[in-house]
Amino acid sequence: MNIIMFGPPGAGKGTQAERIQKMHKIKQLSTGDMLRAEVASESSLGKTLKAIMDAGELVSDEIIIELIGNCISEPECERGFILDGFPRTVPQAKALDEMLTHMARKIDHVIVLEVDNGILIDRIQQRAAQTGGARSDDNAEVLKNRLEVYEAQTAPLLPYYEDKDVLRRVDGMQSIEEVSTEIEKILGL
Ligand code: AMP
Repeated sequence: MNIIMFGPPGAGKGTQAERIQKMHKIKQLSTGDMLRAEVASESSLGKTLKAIMDAGELVSDEIIIELIGNCISEPECERGFILDGFPRTVPQAKALDEMLTHMARKIDHVIVLEVDNGILIDRIQQRAAQTGGARSDDNAEVLKNRLEVYEAQTAPLLPYYEDKDVLRRVDGMQSIEEVSTEIEKILGL
């Protein structure tokens, strides 16, 4: 089963993707985590990525599409994958469709975590406190831009997936447990 976790920054995509991975042994693919690993390696690409991520902007489609293309063809994704943070633009979604068509696979569910923007700043501040500020983009100022980028470049993917009849909306304001239970019902595994 191939799943996309969708929603604004701080909606809980990573938390829910991790739970699905644990319960169903479907591989979580977080583009944010992959990019942060590259930044941590202090490579020259990592330095370029850090500047983009710290500003709350999106990394180029070319880099991200190559990254995901390499991952989904790995044996560990044979049972399926949960995309966490990808796709974030229409060109990324189209490139993903092309790759999947070549592999005779498809996206089964796009799970949208719906949350009020007001709560996101609290969640991001909580995450920053819990992780000891490990993410330099977890602060109010950068979040504002990340939300604008989400509305402008990522939210337009909702009608794209609605047309494909794979969009499943979940109230992301509920507790982690409640959100997880709803997702389990949708997946029906
Ligand atoms: P995330 O951990 O998913 O919130 O991602 C952190 C940052 O990594 C984002 O603000 C972007 O700068 C970058 N990033 C992650 N995924 C993507 C993507 N699919 N396309 C472009 N940039 C991305």
